[in-house]
Amino acid sequence: MRPTIETLRKYANLLVRKGANVQKGQVVTINASVDQHAFACLVMEECYLAGAKKVNIDWGCDQQTRLNFTYADEDVLGTTLVWEEEKLKQMVEDLPCRIFIESEDPDALAGLDVEKLSRVTQKRAKVRKPYRNAIDGRHQWLIAAIPSAAWAKKCFPDHSEEEAMELLWDAILRTVRVEENNDPLQEWQKHIDFMAAKADWLNNQKLRSLRYSSSNGTDFTVDLIPEAKWEAANDLNITNNTTYIPNMPTEEVFTTPMAGKCEGTLVAVKPLSWNGQLIEDFSITFEDGKAVSCKAAKGQELLEKMLHMDEKACMLGEVALVPKESPVNQCGFLFYNTLFDENACCHVAIGAGFKEVLPNGEHLSAEEAEKMGINDSIIHVDFMVGADDLHIVGIREDGSEVDIFINGTYV
Ligand code: ZN
Repeated sequence: MRPTIETLRKYANLLVRKGANVQKGQVVTINASVDQHAFACLVMEECYLAGAKKVNIDWGCDQQTRLNFTYADEDVLGTTLVWEEEKLKQMVEDLPCRIFIESEDPDALAGLDVEKLSRVTQKRAKVRKPYRNAIDGRHQWLIAAIPSAAWAKKCFPDHSEEEAMELLWDAILRTVRVEENNDPLQEWQKHIDFMAAKADWLNNQKLRSLRYSSSNGTDFTVDLIPEAKWEAANDLNITNNTTYIPNMPTEEVFTTPMAGKCEGTLVAVKPLSWNGQLIEDFSITFEDGKAVSCKAAKGQELLEKMLHMDEKACMLGEVALVPKESPVNQCGFLFYNTLFDENACCHVAIGAGFKEVLPNGEHLSAEEAEKMGINDSIIHVDFMVGADDLHIVGIREDGSEVDIFINGTYV
């Protein structure tokens, strides 16, 4: 059965009240696909009920993107028009609460010219970056998802479209802890408290590096930034002191490691869906903090492209701990969407780090944060390394060691 309207409202309410935590008088921007107008409007109404001053919806469409990349010139697609830049300026002024409702077909861009895609993305990202930096840490945002028929069929190819939609709805609602007869706001508070306790424990260990090993070939060491904190679900908007949960679901306790300080090989345990295309059975080897080689059974070219998106795309921006008992992992299938798949097990990200993990990090410029070891790049791509037998050892300042993960879960 598809979720009832009451359950959908409950989910929309959770996203607005607990996720984005929309405050009285705020401007909200919702990004959603045109196919999802009914749910987007439910979220919109919840925003107004929470006291939003104005709610705007930016509609997208997989097919529109595909047609543009098929027929329009690269220069045209890569150009940010005056009105688009004005919109970015307006965003910096309004500091809107931003809610992204994902439902993309994982294959939306399959078969398109990879080079063209990455050049256009790079060109557009360059213009967007200063605006993105200007709102970083100074607004609330949330990424959540609902099924589309194409996405559901991708996850459950052997089922009818209707069955696939029901299965994906069930899985999504399970991962975001929404049940017909529960109070999801309360469930989330418990969940956040658990992760916050883990983050506190990690911060008290004063770790200087982490050593990963598992039987699939992962053998990897990464240095941490001494001042950097481990963080869990909650984030803070410093302009209004409002906490919010940027990702729903979220299962990770994470930090940004020292850019340029890691050695060894990480073997991915799940395929990676990037720019609508799949990279499968891959590993990345690092030397002197930089990815120097990679191997993929499928998507080799794409993986290489990713690691060369800019000068620092070959360095790490995140290490995250996720126990294998995570509800996403329990669902037992690949979502083909990072929001879910990154919450299945331990992962790292190549590309940009998070300056918010530094003391007073929100107030640092990108350059200042970079000097302290936070990687800066136009990409941030997570990939899963949490094998069932993953062992993570923490090495403290005084050289002593402590087990953090044994057999893919917290000790
Ligand atoms: Zn992460």
